[in-house]
Amino acid sequence: MIEVEGGCHCGAVRYSIALPDQPVSALECNCSVCSMTGFLHVVVPHGDFDLLSGRDVLTSYRFGTGAAEHLFCCVCGVKSFYQPRSHPDAWSVNAHCLDTPVNLTIELFDGRDWENAKGRLDAQS
Ligand SMILES: [Zn+2]
Repeated sequence: MIEVEGGCHCGAVRYSIALPDQPVSALECNCSVCSMTGFLHVVVPHGDFDLLSGRDVLTSYRFGTGAAEHLFCCVCGVKSFYQPRSHPDAWSVNAHCLDTPVNLTIELFDGRDWENAKGRLDAQS
C-alpha cells in the first residue's frame, strides 16, 4: 500500500488515501457528469480514505436516481472525490486531484449505459 494525499484546487478540501501497489486501476466514465468534469475514478474503500479538512465546504449535487452523491468544493468548484453509485462502500477519488502522480491502468466505464457497464464491472471482480 502507498499513502497519497490530494484535494481540491483551493486547498480547502484535503484527504489522505491508501492505495494498493501500482499500477492502480482507474475508471474513465463517459456519463453526462463525468465527461463534463473530466473525472478520472480511483475507487478507494471508505476505510482507506481519511478526510483531513474541508467537510464544511463540501457541497452536494444529486441527479437521476440520486444514488450517487457528487461532492464539490463550494470555494473553487472542484470535485476531488465523491460517493459513487457503483461502489456504495467506497469513495471515488479524482486521480487528477492527487498531489503525487500515480501509475494507473485506465479502463473505460460506459456510464451512458450504466446498468450494463456495472454488470460487466461486477463480473470482473
Ligand atoms: Zn476548493
